[in-house]
Amino acid sequence: MANLPILQFEEKIVETVEKNSVVVIIGETGSGKSTQLSQILHRHGYTKSGVIAITQPRRVAAVSVARRVAQELDVPLGEDVGYAIRFEDRTTSKTRIKYLTDGVLLRESLSNPMLDDYSVIILDEAHERSLNTDILLGLVKRLVRIRASNFKVLITSATLDGEKVSEFFSGCPVLNVPGKLYPVEILYSKERPVSYIESSLKVAIDIHVREPEGDILIFMTGQDDIEKLVSRLEEKVRSLAEGSCMDAIIYPLHGSLPPEMQVRVFSPPPPNCRRFIVSTNIAETSLTVDGVVYVIDSGYVKQRQYNPSSGMFSLDVIQISKVQANQRAGRAGRTRPGKCYRLYPLAVYRDDFLDATIPEIQRTSLAGSVLYLKSLDLPDIDILKFDFLDAPSSESLEDALKQLYFIDAIDENGAITRIGRTMSDLPLEPSLSRTLIEANETGCLSQALTVVAMLSAETTLLPARSKPSEKKRKHDEDSNLPNGSGYGDHIQLLQIFESWDRTNYDPVWCKENGMQVRGMVFVKDVRRQLCQIMQKISKG
Ligand code: ADP
Repeated sequence: MANLPILQFEEKIVETVEKNSVVVIIGETGSGKSTQLSQILHRHGYTKSGVIAITQPRRVAAVSVARRVAQELDVPLGEDVGYAIRFEDRTTSKTRIKYLTDGVLLRESLSNPMLDDYSVIILDEAHERSLNTDILLGLVKRLVRIRASNFKVLITSATLDGEKVSEFFSGCPVLNVPGKLYPVEILYSKERPVSYIESSLKVAIDIHVREPEGDILIFMTGQDDIEKLVSRLEEKVRSLAEGSCMDAIIYPLHGSLPPEMQVRVFSPPPPNCRRFIVSTNIAETSLTVDGVVYVIDSGYVKQRQYNPSSGMFSLDVIQISKVQANQRAGRAGRTRPGKCYRLYPLAVYRDDFLDATIPEIQRTSLAGSVLYLKSLDLPDIDILKFDFLDAPSSESLEDALKQLYFIDAIDENGAITRIGRTMSDLPLEPSLSRTLIEANETGCLSQALTVVAMLSAETTLLPARSKPSEKKRKHDEDSNLPNGSGYGDHIQLLQIFESWDRTNYDPVWCKENGMQVRGMVFVKDVRRQLCQIMQKISKG
């Protein structure tokens, strides 16, 4: 911790924050922005007049970084240092440093538009350009104007164009924290592999056998591929003759892992041991794993895409951008010179990859954000003229307005309706909020709550991947429990939860039916929270 690059700039940072309401901080991933900035400002008295909020685009980062900061300050997590993510609030009135997702901060501003509990708001990881962070940029710009000088905003980024953000904030200062990055040799494949799991396996084992010590970070697109590769790696490593190379530990890393498994990658490995970290995109800039010297990059990422013609979202595997490819390569040069193996030819990188990732605001449905902005009731905010860092197209704004009109959230003049207002009380996508309101009126709220809770907990719900036991197969045949995978079917989601409910929430049932206990418990809690909000709405 002591040698994190950002700490050498402590005085400069504090001095600049003292003199300016908004400061942009650009620093390489792993330079200490997420874990240290809040502590620096805390040391210099900024928690005396309020709480320091640090937003993260990803839930897993909010939890992991809060945990780390609590550890460094030697305080219990959830008290002086806490976190709040959707459906999980680990803060108390004592909390002075609060990590939260950008979505949670947006929701908080609905009930407290001035956000005056906060003395400082740090919009972290702005380079991710999540839709919510983009909206927050516009909102805090307005707050800086309205709130007096005792309010500070910091915007941090690993790659973002600092000048552009500075211009957006009327020329605020940009501090660059130079990180020490060692050279990384880039090696390209001659062609794209048929299977990038097999290809990653081969490259990883080659490195393990031939190259000196240093951990290997492998980018996969999702949990399925990660689990396949982890089990293939385990087989291979076991089959290597004992003693012919150093020991190996293989870690999966993705957002649906239980927190205690996520943090394993942060503990130093035993001596003479090589770690293989098989990760989703979260290791690109959100989480920094120390000790990585070799990176294997498939060139792909899984991204939620929106199709305006069908109004549907899908999770697609798409090519990464050049900026992402370079971020991934950079992970290999943090401790010493490293190597990055790109499983694609140079020509693909040069000619096919986009220069930068398209910001979410330009590729997603804006219905939720437009409804949010409308429910703020701010006289000086006009949706169509909202101050965006990169404005969405007028087509996507119109599409959002159409969708909202279609589900009765706005009227023909674009004004928010009573239903629209009720919808914005629910921390859900507009279509799901609308579903609950309708279900409440038609007498099937209980079932709708279950389906919506199951859908909202999707990432933690994934079934355990181990082969179903004989008992489970037998059970599937005997029961009306849906067989096989495919949770797209809402009735199936309902049946799963109801079957578990009938066992009085027996964890053994989850195990026997291949469901994650933690995921199901989360669903139950989400359902309870949504139920409470619906009760309040019905009474109100
Ligand atoms: P940045 O925000 O600039 O990317 P971070 O503050 O996230 O940098 O990381 C700084 C250092 O803290 C890294 O070396 C990283 O490995 C370590 N770190 C971050 N989170 C944790 C954690 N939960 N446990 C242990 N170490 C962590």
